[in-house]
Amino acid sequence: MKRRVTCHCEQKIDFDTPEVYDAAPGSPTREAIVDGTFLTITCDRCGEEIRPELEATLHDGERTVVLVPEARRNSFLLGALRIPKDAAVVVGFGELRERMIVLDAGLRVDVVEALKYQILRKAGPRTDLRIFCVESTSNELVFHIHGLRDDDEVAVMRVPRSAYDRATADMRLKANEEPYRTILSPPYVSINKIELDPEEASDDG
Ligand SMILES: [Zn+2]
Repeated sequence: MKRRVTCHCEQKIDFDTPEVYDAAPGSPTREAIVDGTFLTITCDRCGEEIRPELEATLHDGERTVVLVPEARRNSFLLGALRIPKDAAVVVGFGELRERMIVLDAGLRVDVVEALKYQILRKAGPRTDLRIFCVESTSNELVFHIHGLRDDDEVAVMRVPRSAYDRATADMRLKANEEPYRTILSPPYVSINKIELDPEEASDDG
């Protein structure tokens, strides 16, 4: 697929991308997504590396994943983008990276999103927070919350594996309740579809 982006130096850069990226476990694309170099292009004029967030279609080894650029989030939510049937959607590099980490860890996407909702409610509901699962060990899941601290640093939240297991057991009940039903409805399974109401105090869990 022919692409063209413009560097900060105004140089137009033409390059090719696959119609569908192979992002199966262990693939170079998967590694690049996780280490943050996916779609990195070097400008042939000024030498700067740029990382344009372009719409891309990937195959994660089991299913098709469509990366919607953050800049097109609203277009997608309004139904203006065509998404292949049965494809999953992630919006932005951050969500794409998280998806690969979650899949590599053998975690369930729906359970992780439900956990993120519960964490954010406790953190103090605000509309400008972003939370990502960044790591999973046998003992815990590690989340980064952006926007919670004034100094631009991410807040680190560690959740014991037992909480994940409990959330997994709760999923069958919760999946039909709001806001979980909205968060978990395909193709875009994400907490970033809902707005947390700052007035709503956390009282559960
Ligand atoms: Zn340049």
